[in-house]
Amino acid sequence: MKKLIVANWKCNPTTLNQAKKLFNSIKKGLGVVKNTKVIICPPFVYLEELAKFKRTIILGAQDCYFQEKGAFTGEISAAMLKDLGCDYVILGHSERRKYFSETNVLINKKLKSALEKGLKPILCIDSTSQIKQCLKGILKEKVIIAYEPIWAIGTGKVPSPAQAKSFNVKIKKLVTNNTIVLYGGSVNAENVEGFIAKSGFNGVLVGGASLKPKEFINIVKVVDRT
Ligand code: PEP
Repeated sequence: MKKLIVANWKCNPTTLNQAKKLFNSIKKGLGVVKNTKVIICPPFVYLEELAKFKRTIILGAQDCYFQEKGAFTGEISAAMLKDLGCDYVILGHSERRKYFSETNVLINKKLKSALEKGLKPILCIDSTSQIKQCLKGILKEKVIIAYEPIWAIGTGKVPSPAQAKSFNVKIKKLVTNNTIVLYGGSVNAENVEGFIAKSGFNGVLVGGASLKPKEFINIVKVVDRT
C-alpha cells in the first residue's frame, strides 16, 4: 500500500500567485515519487487553478458542507469540490471543531456526503472517543483517519514513537486493519521517519511544514524511502 502525505495549507498563502509558486516549487522538487501519494489541500479559492497543474500531485480540500446545494450562504459542497478536480477532503480538523464549533454529529453528515459524491474523506481526530460518533453508519475502511493530538499541532512538540504507536494500535482496533491511519502534529523531515517506521502509521498530515517547499519535499523523500 502506498503511503500518504497530506499537506494542509490551512488559510495560506494570501494570494493566488503565491499559491501557484508554492505548488509549482513542490511539484518540481518532488521529481519521481514511487511509494507515496502526495495530496495538497489548499484553500478552496485556489483549487480550480491548481487543478490545471496537478498530475503527480493530488488535490484535496480542507472542509465541505453536507448539503449538495441550496440556501446555505458561504458553504461549499462535496459535489462542487468533486467537479473542480478534488479527490480528497479533510473533515473534522481540530481548528474547525474549536473555531467553528463543529460537532461529531455534523462531521458524520459531512463524511457521508463526501463519500456519496466520490471524495475520499480524511477524518481528523484528537481522541479515540470521537471515532464512534463520527463514523456512525459509515464503512470504516472508506475513511482515512488522521490522529492529531491538539497539543502537537503547530507547537513543535510530538509524541514519542512508542506513544504514537499505542494510539495507532488503539485506533486500528476501533476501525479495521485496512483503514489508513495517519499521524499529524508538528511533523518535519527529522521526525517523520519515526511515525512511519517505528509507530507504523500509513502516512502523515503536515501543516506548517507543508508551506516550506524544501522541508516538505524532504518529508516526502524520507517517507518514500522508509
Ligand atoms: C494540522 O494542523 O493538521 C497540522 C498537522 O499542523 P502542524 O503540522 O503545523 O502541526
